[in-house]
Amino acid sequence: MRRDERKGQIQVFQARIRELLSKGILPIVDVEHHWGGNIPIVELVAKMDMNGVALTWLGQNENHGSKNSLKLHQRYPDRIVPTTVHGDGPLWHGRDQSFLEELAADMRSGKYFAMGEFEARHYVSNTNNRDVHLPVDSESFHVVFRLSEETGVPFLLHHEAEDKMLPELERMLEQYRRAKVIWCHVGRNRDPQTWTKFPPPDGVRAYLNKYPNLYFDLNQAKPGGRHPGTGYVDAILYDMSGTRVSLKPEWRRLFEESPDRFVIGSDVNTGRWEGYDSVFDTFRTVVLGSLRQDVAEKVAYKNAWKLVTGEDWRE
Ligand SMILES: [Zn+2]
Repeated sequence: MRRDERKGQIQVFQARIRELLSKGILPIVDVEHHWGGNIPIVELVAKMDMNGVALTWLGQNENHGSKNSLKLHQRYPDRIVPTTVHGDGPLWHGRDQSFLEELAADMRSGKYFAMGEFEARHYVSNTNNRDVHLPVDSESFHVVFRLSEETGVPFLLHHEAEDKMLPELERMLEQYRRAKVIWCHVGRNRDPQTWTKFPPPDGVRAYLNKYPNLYFDLNQAKPGGRHPGTGYVDAILYDMSGTRVSLKPEWRRLFEESPDRFVIGSDVNTGRWEGYDSVFDTFRTVVLGSLRQDVAEKVAYKNAWKLVTGEDWRE
């Protein structure tokens, strides 16, 4: 029963992607969205349509819980991918047992195609003041990694790529070889003194070679924008000369070398709502537009497709 239902849902997702393809639009799957529920969902749908976003993994905050994503999926089965709660609120950071139990029950229901973004080390950002660290090898993360292994469903990880933060992540990637981990915001630099292994593409490359179950979504920060906490230019994916922005050749090389390992997420939340169009414009024109066509297709939607369905996209 559940299997048939899932198959039907996947067919609807597929039809939506094909619809954009038939119009000559490169479809994008947004794997990282922070739904606050303060904006009518039809406005999100309108923005998706304007920006050629086929599907959104609509992660929820703790107040709404995972089930809100199911409700919104029922309203827009061709646009919203059922996605669990994010691990970014006081329950998650407070290591609340009932939060973890509910997450486990949700995942075992088989109704979700993706899990939200779970925060380990998190600096302040432009929309929140969380300066927190729940270690990647803490019991809470063991629950998340285990659930991903058990169900084959991917999750998003937020972890600042400071050198001293890396061992705890490596331990988990070594232990959970079948978990599908999407490390968010690659191509970010927040402090060149303490971030030396990452973000250079070589550091990313080394991890990709070492951990075949590791994926990345690309840093969503505006080209040239600075992190409010450290003051450094946040997105190091771009070359800027005057008003011209381009993807740095060393990043393009990395994406083309490992085309199956990168996906696109907007990281939009209520506070960043107004930036939705420009985030996708940058991804579409600067990033995807400078990649080889077959690579752009993978990064835009085929990799996300495989992560949620377990199967290659069929032409
Ligand atoms: Zn994040």
